[in-house]
Amino acid sequence: MIIVMQKNASREAAEDVARRVEEQGLKPHLIFGEERTVVAVVGDDRQKDREVFESCPGVDKVVPILAEYKIASRETKQEPTVIQTHDLIMGNGHVGIIAGPCSVESETQILETAKAVKAAGARGLRGGAFKPRTSPYSFQGMKEEGLKLLALAREQTGLAVVTEVMTPHHVDLVAQYADVMQIGARNMQNYHLLQAVGECNKPVMLKRGASATMDEFLLAAEYILSQGNQQVILCERGIRTFETHTRFTLPLASVPYLKSKTHLPVVIDPSHGTGHANLVGPMCAASVAVRADGLIIEVHPDPSNAMSDGAQSLTFDAFEKTMIECRKIANAIGLTMDE
Ligand code: PEP
Ligand code: MN
Repeated sequence: MIIVMQKNASREAAEDVARRVEEQGLKPHLIFGEERTVVAVVGDDRQKDREVFESCPGVDKVVPILAEYKIASRETKQEPTVIQTHDLIMGNGHVGIIAGPCSVESETQILETAKAVKAAGARGLRGGAFKPRTSPYSFQGMKEEGLKLLALAREQTGLAVVTEVMTPHHVDLVAQYADVMQIGARNMQNYHLLQAVGECNKPVMLKRGASATMDEFLLAAEYILSQGNQQVILCERGIRTFETHTRFTLPLASVPYLKSKTHLPVVIDPSHGTGHANLVGPMCAASVAVRADGLIIEVHPDPSNAMSDGAQSLTFDAFEKTMIECRKIANAIGLTMDE
């Protein structure tokens, strides 16, 4: 259930309600919105007496939540969540652009890419230092050395660093360098990892598992939120279907669907979603048209020699052209994109 406080209710009143929720053996999450404060009650509340809360001072109403995900649900929080770190802003009409190579490969590669993507409008720099590769014989990433290079690129450009964390053991290490902790598609249901990033104070970008339903995706987000970390970004990166002309199948209906169910920002990854560089630009444009809150795009100085995902990586030129097109669409429908 959620307990909606009256418009003028004090913070103390909400905290008092939260204490009573705890007394009932349930977990309260206080969410302070612009208009109102709500107390999301997590735990099995079916047997609990809602009337107890209805009569508390400052309470407007008590609403049962139908969706299994509670904190992620729009029923709990109507206004969109906006994620900001450095100059990267995603949500509520702002389209944040994250771009960079699949993997960090060298100092020159990451610095050159960071400067090029920033000049074209990106405010986040992606780059994997710990890489989840399908084959154990493929390049596994530069690990901490790669994280240090990402931090150097941030120092030189001001871009926010978005990078993947693959195991709970690395959460502290990656959080020392990253501004956004990426959870890869393969780990969407690694519940210990979700709980571990839920305990850190960095925004988390959760990628949809390749065979996850929307409910499973939102419940994975709920794992992070229920640990107290309210800064979650959902990333649609395509799903596995019978189709082989693209690497995955990229369902853009996920954007309006998710936005109807959750207040969390939704970003699209058209690189993994298509697997082919020539399809990435058009899918970026389409993502903006369906009001995605951001894009994460693979860009490489020399895609044909990339150590991972070269076939789906844009050149600097192609990225710049894509940004120009996306910005036109964004402006036409009242969204904001950085120059
Ligand atoms: C990546 O971002 O390089 C990546 C491995 O993505 P995903 O987890 O979506 O496959
Ligand atoms: Mn990749």
